[in-house]
Amino acid sequence: MTVSSTSSEKALTLLRQMGFGDEALSSGDLVSASPIDNAIIGRVRQDDPDGVRRKIAAADADFRKWRDVPSPRRGELVRLFGEALRQNKASLGALVTLETGKIHSEGLGEVQEMIDICDFAVGLSRQLYGLTMATERPGHRMMESWHPLGVTAIISAFNFPVAVWAWNACIALVCGNAIIWKPSEKTPITAFVAHALLERVLDRFDDAPGGLSLLVQGGREAGELLVDDPRVRMVSATGSTRMGREIGPRVAARFGRSLLELGGNNAMIVTPSADLALARQAIAFAAVGTAGQRCTSLRRLFVHDSIYDALIPDLIRIFGAVKVGDPLDPATLVGPLIDAPSFKAMQYALGQARAVSGRVNGGERVDGPHPDAFYVRPAIVEMVRQEAIVMDETFAPILYVMRYTSLDDVIDTHNAVPQGLSSSIFTTDLREAEKFLSAAGSDCGIANVNIGPSGAEIGGAFGGEKETGGGRESGSDSWRAYMRRATNTINYSSDLPLAQGVQFEV
Ligand code: NAD
Repeated sequence: MTVSSTSSEKALTLLRQMGFGDEALSSGDLVSASPIDNAIIGRVRQDDPDGVRRKIAAADADFRKWRDVPSPRRGELVRLFGEALRQNKASLGALVTLETGKIHSEGLGEVQEMIDICDFAVGLSRQLYGLTMATERPGHRMMESWHPLGVTAIISAFNFPVAVWAWNACIALVCGNAIIWKPSEKTPITAFVAHALLERVLDRFDDAPGGLSLLVQGGREAGELLVDDPRVRMVSATGSTRMGREIGPRVAARFGRSLLELGGNNAMIVTPSADLALARQAIAFAAVGTAGQRCTSLRRLFVHDSIYDALIPDLIRIFGAVKVGDPLDPATLVGPLIDAPSFKAMQYALGQARAVSGRVNGGERVDGPHPDAFYVRPAIVEMVRQEAIVMDETFAPILYVMRYTSLDDVIDTHNAVPQGLSSSIFTTDLREAEKFLSAAGSDCGIANVNIGPSGAEIGGAFGGEKETGGGRESGSDSWRAYMRRATNTINYSSDLPLAQGVQFEV
C-alpha cells in the first residue's frame, strides 16, 4: 500500500489551514505518530503534577465566576464554539483521520457530532428546568432548583478523540461548570487543536474567565491527579472497563460524582422475518467500520438457524472484499488499528477462538506503508456457542457469529455478557421487536430495531449498564448529571405547620 505524502506533511498543512504556526506542535515530550504510516504528526508538553494542581485551582476559582453568568449567556459561548467548529470542520476532521486512522467520512462525522452537541447545548441553556411539587402544607410552595456543580474533569479515549470531550464540555459549560480535559495520550494533537479553537472563542468572550476550560496533557498519572482531587466535583471518564474499575472507587471514596462510559460487547439478533439486505448493510458498517474500534462496534451476531446459511456466506464474502487501507482514500472502508498492542490483542483473541473450534475467516495483517502501521482484514468467526473469549471486548474488527433457535434463549445469551452498552434486533415481527425492547429483552443502555448498534445520535442519552459503567451523557436529560439539585420549600403564610402533622409548640 502507498500513501501519497506522509502524515507529517499533511498534518502541517491542516494545522496551517486552522491558523496554527509551524512551531505550535513541534516540541514536547508527548509524541503523536499517525497509525496510517507511523509518521510523527506533532509533539506536546505533558503537564507535571504541580501544573495539574495549578490548573485545578484556576478552574475552581473561575467556576465561582462562571456559575453567576446566566445560562442563556453561557449558551452563547457554546454557540460561538459551534461556529468555530463549522469553519474548521474539514481540517479538524482530516486531522482526526491522521491521528486515529478512522476513514475520512468518519473523521468529518466526528466534528459534525461536536457541532450537533453545540446546537443541542445552546437550546438546553434555556431549558434547565426544575419541577414545582405539590406541598401538603397550606401557604407553602415547594420546588427544585438546579445549580452548577463545580469543576468537571473529562477523561477521554483515543477512538473518539474530540467528540466525546465536546459531548461533555458543551453540556457542562451551559450547566455553569468549569472544565478540565485529560485526553488520551494517543491523541494529544487533535485535543490540542479542538481545545485551542474553544480558547480562541473564550478570548473574545468577555464573561468567560481564563480558567474556565483547561487542557491537561499526559497519561494515566495526570488523570489520577484529577480523579483524586476533591476540588474536582465530577469526573466523566470514557475508556476501558479496566480504567473505570480503577477510577470509580477512587472518586466514590471522596464522595465525588463520576460518570463512567466504558467498554461494550454489542450484539445483534437476526430473526427469520428480518430484511436481510438491510441487515447485511447494518452488520458490515457496525462490525468493520472504524476498524472495529468503536465502543458500540458490533461484536456478537446471533442468526436464526433457518436463515444462517442465507446470510453468513454473504457476510464472509463482504468481509473478504472490503477495502482496507489509507483512510484518506475515499474508496477505503477500513483504516489501520491504532497501534501494535491492539494488533496483538486481536491475534490473541483469534487464537483463543480457534482453540475452542471457532472457524476464523480473515483477521490477517494486510500490507501497510510502514512496518509499525497495523492494517488488518476484518475477521468473522463462526462459533458453536458463546465461549469465554466472546464475553470479552477485544477492541478490533472481530465479529463472532452464532446460530440460535429460540428467541427467549438467545435473549438470555445476549444478556449473559458482563457489558451492557448497545444492542439491536433485525425483525419485521412486531412481537419480536417489542419483546426485545421490553423489560424482559435487551439489558443494554441502547436497544435498536432494524438499525445496527453503532452510530448513535446526540439527541438521545448515551451510555450502558453493568460493566459499561451506568453513565449517560449527551442528549435527553443527561445534563442533570452535571448539576446539583436543591429542593426548596417557601412558607408564604403566617403559620408554621410541620410536615406529617407533627406538633411542636414552644
Ligand atoms: P483506556 O482505558 O486505555 O484510556 C482511556 C483514558 O483513560 C485515557 O485518557 C487514559 O489516559 C485514561 N486512564 C487510564 N487509566 C487511568 C487511571 N487509572 N486514572 C485516570 N485516567 C486513566 O481506553 P482507550 O484504549 O483509550 O479506549 C478504548 C476503550 O474505551 C474501549 O474499551 C472502548 O469500548 C471504550 N470507550 C467507551 C465509550 C463509551 O462511551 N462507553 C466510548 C469510547 C471508548
